[in-house]
Amino acid sequence: MLTVSNLQKTYGSGDQAVEAIRDLTLTVDKGEFVCIVGPSGAGKSTMLKCLCGLLQPSSGTVTLNGVPLNGPPKEIASVFQDYSRSLMPWFTVRRNVGLPLRNRHRSAADRAARVATALEAVGLTSFGGRYPWQLSGGMQQRVAIARGLAYAPEILLLDEPFASVDAQTRADLEDLILRVRDDTGVTMLLVTHDIDEAVYLADRVVVMSARPSVVLDTVEVDLPRP
Ligand code: ADP
Ligand code: ADP
Repeated sequence: MLTVSNLQKTYGSGDQAVEAIRDLTLTVDKGEFVCIVGPSGAGKSTMLKCLCGLLQPSSGTVTLNGVPLNGPPKEIASVFQDYSRSLMPWFTVRRNVGLPLRNRHRSAADRAARVATALEAVGLTSFGGRYPWQLSGGMQQRVAIARGLAYAPEILLLDEPFASVDAQTRADLEDLILRVRDDTGVTMLLVTHDIDEAVYLADRVVVMSARPSVVLDTVEVDLPRP
């Protein structure tokens, strides 16, 4: 469904050039849960930004269902680490979840249905009328996940989504995201530097090398879910 072929991304040019990704090739099947692991600086965030159309690759191609990406694809949503800053404090949870749909000019009825389904998926149906600041960090992160689900039922990109919550909340969110995947069939691509988290969540783990300027090895390992 999603293919990345010989992706290369360099920031800046000349003396200032930083090669963040060299020759990355990856295929993600429909419904698959792929975790990308690798230490800081391996190019994980850069890759996600290329996938959601925030960054233009220097070379190589990304295709979705056989069609090359040309700008931000509406089938792909992303949830980034600093969720608390990405929620609008002056809008209700429901409005926050519906905002990207509003920007896409979905009808009010369609928006309401998608928002309700997404809030139900993350167990926040009764909190739709609250404001983000009235919720705990873990609940705010669930709102951010719901917003991604409401927006893009095909692929959800998650960049270190549980990095800023405590251990118990993190464990709850991991199980939540697995349940959401099983219930909805959404394809998940999650970036983490935590190998344990990757092994727990993924159908397949992709390892990115720490030294992209030297070589970028992509190793794919099939791991059973514990
Ligand atoms: P990761 O997410 O694995 O930590 P990144 O994709 O953030 O890795 O970064 C990969 C490399 O690209 C690093 O060397 C980083 O310093 C560099 N980099 C990331 N963003 C930029 C940017 N906007 N300008 C210049 N270099 C950048
Ligand atoms: P908006 O101004 O975008 O309608 P709201 O926060 O009022 O923002 O609602 C977000 C979405 O949820 C909208 O699509 C809206 O139609 C729908 N909605 C609003 N109130 C309710 C409700 N009580 N139950 C279910 N859906 C609702």
